[in-house]
Amino acid sequence: MNDDSVIPSTGGQPDLRILAACPMCQTAYHPLKTRVVAERGDAHLLYLECRHCSSAVVAIVTAGTTGLESVGALTDLTRGELAQATTEAIVSTDDVVDLVDWLEHNVSVQLTLRREKANF
Ligand SMILES: [Zn+2]
Repeated sequence: MNDDSVIPSTGGQPDLRILAACPMCQTAYHPLKTRVVAERGDAHLLYLECRHCSSAVVAIVTAGTTGLESVGALTDLTRGELAQATTEAIVSTDDVVDLVDWLEHNVSVQLTLRREKANF
């Protein structure tokens, strides 16, 4: 994902506006263009594509004790790319430790970081 922007939260208050209309052009979403990409418990990962401007929003909708809550972000992922990302292996703690170890011991990474620091 690049150039994504998070749609502002409403401070914990239920706000399902992101599920109703495109945040870019305000066109109402067509229900048939909305897809549930993944589900886990009471949480649903939705992909909403605007039929007018073709922008897309990925949103997580959860059913909690206070009702439905959602958070969404604009995305340039296609529905297929999002579905693929949800089925790929989960990054483990060991993966992160291995990456940090590799970054700390990779000569070209360290040289790049030193050059970046020198430029500031
Ligand atoms: Zn739109």
